[in-house]
Amino acid sequence: MWEALELLEKYLFYLQRLGVEALPGKKNLKRFLDLDLTLPVSSLKELYEEVKRCTKCKLHRTRTHAVPGEGPEQTRLMLVGEAPGRDEDLEGRPFVGRAGKLLDQMLAAIKIKRAEVYITNVVKCRPPGNRTPDPDEIEACLPYLAQQIKFVSPRLICTLGLIAAQSVLGTTEPLSRLRGRVHEKDGIKVVVTYHPAFLLRFPARKRDAWEDLKMLQKLYQELVRA
Ligand code: URA
Ligand code: SF4
Repeated sequence: MWEALELLEKYLFYLQRLGVEALPGKKNLKRFLDLDLTLPVSSLKELYEEVKRCTKCKLHRTRTHAVPGEGPEQTRLMLVGEAPGRDEDLEGRPFVGRAGKLLDQMLAAIKIKRAEVYITNVVKCRPPGNRTPDPDEIEACLPYLAQQIKFVSPRLICTLGLIAAQSVLGTTEPLSRLRGRVHEKDGIKVVVTYHPAFLLRFPARKRDAWEDLKMLQKLYQELVRA
């Protein structure tokens, strides 16, 4: 029942976006169900609005707030996490909880101001109980990240944790194989590191993370100087 109502809502919204004001017949519904409803938007702000009312995956049912991301409209560095946690879901902003505090310290350690950086996640709504996002959720949400990358046009991306690394790089390789080198994706340099929430649980890995951060700092400084 809910499923059907949701589909109807999506359908109506879709038609509205196309400029349809009167209700059409039912016969197009089946074809519509197979469409990717991620319509291109013309600005980051429009994208935020789209994300806030998005129902493309089941996470919309349990969210308090969608968390699109935040930061300058164009900037050199983008950070990509996994998905909002409890605090982020309540506030509608990325990395404001405990992991966010550690992220702030990590940025401060390499003299990068949080306000200079664009911060977002692979998945924009909180998975219940902070479970790992399911593949279908990642797939449904990734077009938003792709559009954000186009708008923000970062020269450098730092992924936080396995899900972000694999989603951004389009690989299934483990983090251990992805860390420690600079990747390139569509002309953008990509540095892979641990998720701050992981570092809170396994502080012994901070030493490795520091190596990643130094690499990030060096690349960032090169961009600032260029
Ligand atoms: N963990 C994430 O991956 N993203 C957030 O925004 C907060 C915690
Ligand atoms: Fe839409 Fe992404 Fe939220 Fe799923 S997680 S409802 S795809 S914004």
